Amino acid sequence: MALHQGQDKQHPLDLPRVTGVEDLLNGMEQAVPKNQIPPGPLPAAITHQLIRDELLLDGNARLNLATFVTTWMDPQVTELIGECLDKNMIDKDEYPQTAEFERRCVNILADLWHAPDPTQAVGCSTTGSSEACMLAGMALKRRWMQRNREKYDNGTARPNLVMGANVQVCWEKFCNFWEVECRLAPMEGDRFHLDAESALALVDENTIGVVAVLGSTFDGSFEPVKEICDALDALQGRTGLNVPVHVDGASGGMIAPFLDPDLLWDFRLPRVASINTSGHKYGLVYPGVGWALWRDAEALPEELVFRVNYLGGNMPTFALNFSRPGAQVIAQYYNFLRLGRAGYTAVQQASRDVAIRLAEGIAGLGPFRLLTRGDELPVFAFTTADDVTSFDVFDVSRRLRERGWLVPAYTFPENRTDLAVIRIVIRNGFTLDLADMLLNDLARLIPELQAQPSPGTEHGVQPRSGFHH
Ligand SMILES: *Cc1c(COP(=O)(O)O)cnc(C)c1O
Repeated sequence: MALHQGQDKQHPLDLPRVTGVEDLLNGMEQAVPKNQIPPGPLPAAITHQLIRDELLLDGNARLNLATFVTTWMDPQVTELIGECLDKNMIDKDEYPQTAEFERRCVNILADLWHAPDPTQAVGCSTTGSSEACMLAGMALKRRWMQRNREKYDNGTARPNLVMGANVQVCWEKFCNFWEVECRLAPMEGDRFHLDAESALALVDENTIGVVAVLGSTFDGSFEPVKEICDALDALQGRTGLNVPVHVDGASGGMIAPFLDPDLLWDFRLPRVASINTSGHKYGLVYPGVGWALWRDAEALPEELVFRVNYLGGNMPTFALNFSRPGAQVIAQYYNFLRLGRAGYTAVQQASRDVAIRLAEGIAGLGPFRLLTRGDELPVFAFTTADDVTSFDVFDVSRRLRERGWLVPAYTFPENRTDLAVIRIVIRNGFTLDLADMLLNDLARLIPELQAQPSPGTEHGVQPRSGFHH
């Protein structure tokens, strides 16, 4: 990525200016300045047109099966978001009703996640799960420091955080930014996420917590949160070591409460200290809103909480940002109100049904092997079958792109870098009909791919794609 590309030259196609015809040309003759602020203004209509035209090159969000982030909302809430674009989330005193919606959302989530006392829920909105994970990680680190003040201050102990190599990049960021040792349990054979045994092997007296992911971004699988907690309970029984668990429910935090109510992964497990989710993933809100919740006030050290004025009173806040849009929080509350429990259940079940059907369809084509089946997150990953030698998943991804489908292929992390997969994320708005069209396109491609002499030879190049989180 070029951050700085030098000066704008006069555009080679610059035509002589004729006045009075701008309205007819819609900016056709404009060379858009790319690296310098233009000397003067442009009419709003032309500016709008020029920018819209450039955006034609972006992919179609509805065909983007790479992202977890919401790409469809009710037109009514889209209008509401437009009306609230000027609201700053931090101005709790000036926009008390927006602050009230945030409070209600926190309580609703605390109830969905079985906090011991949802009316006393401790939590906040954020710009997304990444910020929420930073806050949760900070709370874990601070609690560990309180317990280990002396050895931390005299430099004889370095805090660490235990998690699987499949964690989302925000956890590596957290460790880097907050100077915590990042202890990643590697993938092993066909185990693509953290389990109790691999977590326990890395825990010691300087572990600030274990992160369990409900919904691995690599393959959509749920990590066994209860087994991890049980193993840590047993460890405490043996050694007295009390290691809290944070659940990264960026996606699964809004799936499991509706589709897997009996799965034990949330505050029903006493060891779970905090949970995050992305409102803009299966919370079904446009980007960017996330949520961080703690099981009780004890799990969030008071010294990290700041107070802002709120209706003449005091409102605790915990956030990295100060100013931040309020519209997304309002949109989250809209969704809770509009969908209710039955609505969320229906939407998530439809996504899971489509994911399972599409995964089965792809398995049925022959040359592919499923890693997951779309029955946890509505997400699955597949690779080519062992006997396929003429093409690989990168070929499949590239050929599907020719039809407009955005499905990423990527390699797995350390220990399984030999494995390359395609991941498909099914979201609200991806119908069975679209899934059938994707399956048909894939089926049509197979004979051509099988006719290739070897992977990457169709276009004579083999671009390698990075991992899409
Ligand atoms: C998406 C994701 C994140 C990061 O969330 P953002 O809302 O994009 O900041 C963190 N963890 C997991 C498991 C995710 O899927």
